[in-house]
Amino acid sequence: MPIEYELRDGALVWIRNPFTGVISYVVDLRDKSFAFTLGARGFAPPAATHLDEERMARATAGCPFCPGNESKAPSELIRVQPRDVPGWDGDPASPWAMRVFNNLFPRIPAELTGGRNESYVVVEDARHFLPAARLPSDLLFTGALSEAHFIRLMEVNAEVVQRAMGNPTVQSVVVRKNQGPESGASQPHIHQQIIGSPVCLPAVEGELRAAQSDARLWDELITLMQELDLTIDDGSEVVSYASPIGAFPRSYDVVMPRHRALLCELDGAGLRAFACAMHRILRFIGALPLDYEIHQAQDLPLHAHINVRRFPYSNVAGTLNLPQGIFDSVAALRRMNNG
Ligand SMILES: [Zn+2]
Ligand SMILES: [Zn+2]
Repeated sequence: MPIEYELRDGALVWIRNPFTGVISYVVDLRDKSFAFTLGARGFAPPAATHLDEERMARATAGCPFCPGNESKAPSELIRVQPRDVPGWDGDPASPWAMRVFNNLFPRIPAELTGGRNESYVVVEDARHFLPAARLPSDLLFTGALSEAHFIRLMEVNAEVVQRAMGNPTVQSVVVRKNQGPESGASQPHIHQQIIGSPVCLPAVEGELRAAQSDARLWDELITLMQELDLTIDDGSEVVSYASPIGAFPRSYDVVMPRHRALLCELDGAGLRAFACAMHRILRFIGALPLDYEIHQAQDLPLHAHINVRRFPYSNVAGTLNLPQGIFDSVAALRRMNNG
């Protein structure tokens, strides 16, 4: 089935997500007030005080993801040394720059995956706070990592995906990031999760089913994004776009149209291209709350969904409103150089 949408005077009015059936309506929300939903977030932070320094010291002292507290987390599976993260500018005396261990709270009970916990935590950086942090809220975030560091992180992700797939009971693996409490992150220290599942993960299963009934679906989707002028990266290997069919009003997709396999099956150049396209968007979003998921399966183009969580979720009975202005970000993203 072709993708359903309607244009008026060349502008998108609505579009139906071919995987979920959710209809997005483009609306003018310029005069709508979000003061209530956004709460106090708009206020300028107060000047730093001695108390803030104490709170920051307490935060790192009690953080299970900070160096020195390794014993508070499950046993280590992968350790990446500072010298093995290109351009890492953290403390050169840090015992590590990235670390992987099992999640203390598995997303899927271990008894369903052969008695092995297949939920992993990847600590993306040893640093809890931004280099120039003055307030307890000045947390390090993924978009602040260098591009080279993010590529290295994606290599570690691929290694963990391969490890999980080595368990014969695991059918499907997702890479998931939550940034900020608004996206459901339970730890302030920069990290992401990787989850192995004994069944094809439902979101991926839906995408596979849709692609099976229309083999050209992803190509049609990419062509439509090009026609709507929503693409950011538009190469033969990787395509990214501001998505009008995301789970949240402001979403981006990064797709490898020709790589219909797992993250750990990408070659070095492919992995770099995928990571760079994601990093460009993450750097643009910055410290705002966000989530992303990397979806992968045999016969499915490898892709990531990135959702900005600035505005609360507003799916009503399978409909979503897209503020007209969200597409303005595309031009700014295209102008942005990676680095
Ligand atoms: Zn920490
Ligand atoms: Zn997907």
